Amino acid sequence: MKLEQNILQQRPEIDLTVPYGESRVLLHSCCAPCSGELIEAMIKAGIDLTIFFYNPNIHPKKEYEIRKNENIRYAKKLGIPIVDADYDVQNWFNKASGMENEPEKGIRCTMCFDMRFVRTAQYAKEHGFKIFTSSLGLSRWKDMEQINRSGEFAASFVDGVTYWTYNWRKQGGGARMYDIAKREEFYKQEYCGCIYSLRDTNNWREKNGREKIAIGEEFYQQKINDNHSNSPEHKPNVCFGGEE
Ligand code: SF4
Repeated sequence: MKLEQNILQQRPEIDLTVPYGESRVLLHSCCAPCSGELIEAMIKAGIDLTIFFYNPNIHPKKEYEIRKNENIRYAKKLGIPIVDADYDVQNWFNKASGMENEPEKGIRCTMCFDMRFVRTAQYAKEHGFKIFTSSLGLSRWKDMEQINRSGEFAASFVDGVTYWTYNWRKQGGGARMYDIAKREEFYKQEYCGCIYSLRDTNNWREKNGREKIAIGEEFYQQKINDNHSNSPEHKPNVCFGGEE
């Protein structure tokens, strides 16, 4: 795994003890910006990780492909295996039926986390991983308890597989994810992912005199002001603090 020496040295030492003393981890990644911090933390800790990209919630396909390809780009740069799982979007829509107007952090999101984690846990079992975790909890816009419950729920169906409920936000993780996103100039998604979060974010933007989301146009850059993600005016329903 090739992380530049200066980046590796600059990262603080954080205690990353994998459950049961395991050294292999399957990382469910929601996107490159959120997983960047987890990837670099695990490399520094000497953890043998594989990235698992399974996010059929992301809509439209153009947005899905961009987010996935950003993850693949970074994984290849670092020499980390990445698994490109199904885009079984119809399966996601079937499960979301009747939940179209649920608010973020509600039951539709629980279904969405459960679905992604059950598939991740199954893959883990089939490929000899005893531990899996996810980048979904890194964003401060997400309910970490809700995500951890889904991870543990998924693991409960699969013998011998454990969800690692580490708090990736602590010890500066939340701030470093923005630094990494800017350094790597990752795509800057501006809504959580599904068609309903796109609709709701655009409705909020319209009410606040903002342009609708333009898919595929925004990328993190070194010059973006660090304070952009901390404004109280942001609508708190994005995956990665994309509102500014
Ligand atoms: S808002 Fe995000 S977590 Fe919730 S259902 Fe949509 S994509 Fe999934």
